Amino acid sequence: MATVEHATPQAHNGVAHAGDEIPVENPATGQIVGTVPDLGAAAVTEMAKRARAAQPAWEAYGFDGRGRILSRAQKWLLDNQDRVIETIISETGKTFEDAELAEIAYAANAFGFWAKHAPEYLADERIKSGQILVKGKKLLLRYRPLGLIGVIGPWNYPLTNSFGDCIPALAAGNCVILKPSEVTPLTSLLIAEGLRECGLPEDVLQIATGRGETGAALVEEVDMIMFTGSTRTGRKVAESAARRLIPASLELGGKDPMIVLSDADLERAANFATYYSMQNAGQTCISIERVYVEEPVYDEFVARVSDKVRALRVGPPAGPGSVEVGAITFPPQLETIEAHVADAVDRGARVLAGGHAVQSGGGGRFYEPTVLVDVDHTMKIMTEETFGPTLPIMKVSDSEEAVRLANDSPYGLGASVFTRDAERGEQIARRIETGAANVNDALINYTVLELPMGGAKASGLGSRHGAGGIRKYCSQQAIVVTSRLAPKREVHMYPYKRRTSRMLAGLFKLMYGRGKRD
Ligand code: NDP
Repeated sequence: MATVEHATPQAHNGVAHAGDEIPVENPATGQIVGTVPDLGAAAVTEMAKRARAAQPAWEAYGFDGRGRILSRAQKWLLDNQDRVIETIISETGKTFEDAELAEIAYAANAFGFWAKHAPEYLADERIKSGQILVKGKKLLLRYRPLGLIGVIGPWNYPLTNSFGDCIPALAAGNCVILKPSEVTPLTSLLIAEGLRECGLPEDVLQIATGRGETGAALVEEVDMIMFTGSTRTGRKVAESAARRLIPASLELGGKDPMIVLSDADLERAANFATYYSMQNAGQTCISIERVYVEEPVYDEFVARVSDKVRALRVGPPAGPGSVEVGAITFPPQLETIEAHVADAVDRGARVLAGGHAVQSGGGGRFYEPTVLVDVDHTMKIMTEETFGPTLPIMKVSDSEEAVRLANDSPYGLGASVFTRDAERGEQIARRIETGAANVNDALINYTVLELPMGGAKASGLGSRHGAGGIRKYCSQQAIVVTSRLAPKREVHMYPYKRRTSRMLAGLFKLMYGRGKRD
């Protein structure tokens, strides 16, 4: 179990604080597993000062020096995975497998990926130009770390979501202050401790534990902010960043649709619908949140999914293989799930599996894996982010209706299409207004760190992963180098002369004015 020793009130990251303590609860048992300091704005300012002092030396480590520490951290994570999984479970209440597959495996890959690819994504680029005035000059595009990055993380994946962003920011040569969710701060403190063991210098990564106000204070100090969480809070962060004229990258809410066409492999589609709506108890930004099924296969699909969902075990995780669906991590989330199901039932939906909160004797917070049918877009469960183990399934007449309904959402994070005709699936995927779309698959794009992952519409701004996922932590610098053999005076300079101007006009005509006019 994670304990209070992860954080002590007097010496948290070496920053003195006079604020309150935040208790950390195990959502599967109701027990308090630790406390962390609620750091105020003054503490965040102090951390920022220390980070700025540490950054030049960290940048000077170069890609090799930084990559060595990140590669060590990859091994540290695997050597300490039992302790890390235990800590993640203790503050999220998720199952062993959800911690192992979606947190440890992701982060282990990410440490190695960014250690290896940062030098390639951020290498100086020699640019070629057709511009005549720069003929013979050296043109360079260079990426320079921004300096101090703020990462604000949510509670659903305390390792993957927070460190998925910290790692590339660090690899680029930045210092980072991470503000984890007040609900799940222990994992961040443990990983920061691990990184120090691996040789990460003091103050390069600091953890600012606290509530929303601590996050708001962080935005005021950093050179760039990476935020993952709700669209509502994301807007506030974007407004503060705009006022300060710093870049913000936002990964926000989603309402991911799945489309099942009548020629789909129904068994595969049913397994994917079940797994990717219930995995992590549905608390994943790219969970399948709603399904549209073509009429001819609707009944069979619904029957298969309902059987599979009814077979799932929900409750406090007790090691590998104990339950499929763990706790609801964030207390108010249970109310949202209950409200969405109640609203759907009030408007005529039928519950085929689940439909209730689970009263666990031990004080844990759970919701039954739930399947709803006879749903439509007048219901919150089809239009608002539920973020729980719920799967509403809607019958559609054809793929056109499915695409229209899939796009009838303010969100645009991920989507999936199931059909045996992969080419048709791809054509449909292209028409869905989301940052990612999978054909005969779901969520898998997130594990491909070479591919960008970001939201369309109200699901976010910018992306993580791929070249853009590290370049966003840098500013671009264009460098033009003219050799010492250049003339003392360029042709366009003073004094202006009629003959030269005529000659230049002729030259521009020759360069840009030739060719047909429409
Ligand atoms: P929030 O968006 O409020 O929280 C995300 C992070 O932002 C937390 O660390 C939070 O701190 C911090 N924060 C809160 N207020 C501010 C602020 N004014 N300025 C800067 N940072 C702030 O999400 P919630 O935890 O309240 O969850 C609400 C909903 O968001 C969920 O129901 C779900 O729908 C969605 N969500 C989406 C996620 C995703 O992966 N895209 C992840 C989690 C939630 P603290 O926790 O201490 O308040």
